[in-house]
Amino acid sequence: MSKTYLCPVCGFDQLQEEPFSKKNEPSFEICPCCGFEFGFNGENNKASFKEYRERWIKEGASWFIKGLEPKRWDYKKQLQALGKHF
Ligand SMILES: [Zn+2]
Repeated sequence: MSKTYLCPVCGFDQLQEEPFSKKNEPSFEICPCCGFEFGFNGENNKASFKEYRERWIKEGASWFIKGLEPKRWDYKKQLQALGKHF
């Protein structure tokens, strides 16, 4: 299995690339869950992740790519994966 990464916005843990590299270069990957595009929708900081997250939740916390969501998926449970980052 290849390494996967955690989305700092929604807690989805199957990103193919690190959202921001150690040099702070964005991956420009779009999170299939919340739709955040790293390097496009916001900066690499908590404030922009939080802002996007709050909007995503307000709009129903639905999957950006429809049909990919697991059965009985619960965004609140997924957000717990963020732990201290949340
Ligand atoms: Zn996400």
